[in-house]
Amino acid sequence: MDGKANKALGQHFLVSKSHADRMVSYAGIRSGDLVLEIGPGRGALTDLLLATGCHLTAVEVDARWAGELRSRHGGRERFRLIEGDVLQLDLAALLDLERNPARWKLVANLPYNVATPILHKVSCLESRLESGTVMVQKEVAERILAGAHNRDIGLLTHLLGYHFSFQRGFTVPPGAFLPPPKVVSMVIRMVPRPPDPLRPEESFFRRVLEAAFAQRRKQLAKNLAALGWSEPWIRSLLAERGIRSDARAEDLEREEFFWLARELKDRGPADRRES
Ligand code: SAM
Repeated sequence: MDGKANKALGQHFLVSKSHADRMVSYAGIRSGDLVLEIGPGRGALTDLLLATGCHLTAVEVDARWAGELRSRHGGRERFRLIEGDVLQLDLAALLDLERNPARWKLVANLPYNVATPILHKVSCLESRLESGTVMVQKEVAERILAGAHNRDIGLLTHLLGYHFSFQRGFTVPPGAFLPPPKVVSMVIRMVPRPPDPLRPEESFFRRVLEAAFAQRRKQLAKNLAALGWSEPWIRSLLAERGIRSDARAEDLEREEFFWLARELKDRGPADRRES
């Protein structure tokens, strides 16, 4: 079985039944739910998910495992297998979001090499997702879950935190997989944030964050000056919100970054802010 795992596709299959059971029960799937599974692989979670009575759409890139799953569950009305790379698919079309208002639950033991791009990709589902229960490398989970003043906080925390709130689930040791990965894994849960009128425009928010975290050890005002605003003006702006003028990006809470991005956008282009 080890020889069958394709490392390039991040294949570490869950072989611990107790961890698979725990993950599916943590996901809170009920009969009739619409569930999206990304990367079903050998089907450790797939089988348990189908046993809940949910309607399952699974996306698997590896033709070999897709074929096995199709022959195992293909006859079931509640099961749909999409063979393909989830990063290349139009998820809204695949899940028929325009015509069907129902919300989806995501369950995935994500391939670690592309876990982050996949999470960014599912961000577009936002409120059409009721919840997401995903397994990622523990180190990545800590970055997603980090709060201000924590060295793990960064671009990933805020970009995903823009759409979702995250809860810590439980860790899963390497021995629960075949082949065992070199790292510990963690199951986390994501829930879309309620609509927030104070949320800044996403692409501008991303620009601000990318500049803010460009050099982590540098002060925020210095990093943001790269976008064109003068450093003293940024320091005075930060002071308006009670943020220390020597703060670093990692010192700010999500709401403070929301405020900062809104103010930078509202107060006009950088070239009018020279002081
Ligand atoms: N769900 C299974 C389990 O828990 O045992 C397999 C998890 S394994 C960590 C990740 C799975 O994602 C593999 O089956 C792999 O082939 C699949 N995969 C990798 N990249 C993918 C992609 N871009 N799109 C869809 N599936 C992908």
